[in-house]
Amino acid sequence: MPTPNSKKIFSFLGLPASGKGTQAKLLADKLQTDRIVGVGSLMREILASNSNDPFVTQIKKRYNEGTPQPDEVAIDLVKSYLDSDQSEDIILDNFPFSNAQAQFLLDYVKQNEHALWQKPVLIYLKSEPETIIHRALFRKVCAACETIYGDTDEMICEKCGGPLVVRSDDKEETLRHRIAIYQPKIKEVIDFYKNNDLFCLEVAADQPIESVALEINKRIDEYFVLYSN
Ligand SMILES: [Zn+2]
Repeated sequence: MPTPNSKKIFSFLGLPASGKGTQAKLLADKLQTDRIVGVGSLMREILASNSNDPFVTQIKKRYNEGTPQPDEVAIDLVKSYLDSDQSEDIILDNFPFSNAQAQFLLDYVKQNEHALWQKPVLIYLKSEPETIIHRALFRKVCAACETIYGDTDEMICEKCGGPLVVRSDDKEETLRHRIAIYQPKIKEVIDFYKNNDLFCLEVAADQPIESVALEINKRIDEYFVLYSN
């Protein structure tokens, strides 16, 4: 049996293009865990499956209609993921994304049979919408090797010499729409963590990747030293 309170669950939250995926991966490397998952990828797995299960059929129907999936879907997917393997720390990307999802996660670790889990920790990558929009609109990508560059005057990829082009899939309106959906959800989850005395680590996302990672590592270590004493 694993020791009680020995396993950690981290959740990453932030606006689109705030660098969540990158930071989640870096933290997974630090913790030496393979248990890292995004709700989006769990959803895509379901959509790609051939199952006739009513749960799956309903998800596909809503997806095809463009109807948002209710909280229960994300909760169910994440619950299955958590249940499937409890041997390593877990990192969740974009979950919880609502009050109900956060409540589920807290209730989950409080159950006796899940006593090995510590209280969930939230890592919020804070960035200003205007900064994200600016960065996305001026972001260049190498047409040959697909290396992503920031707002640069260079026209040539320094890795392969290919031409740099402005990404066309980062349309301003789409991005603004997504940000408008994310903002109230993020606030809801942060409020939940604060109201329940859970650790909510807020890090400025608008700094170099290495600086963000360093700050996350430092503050997580401080928290768990405090927690274990
Ligand atoms: Zn290139």
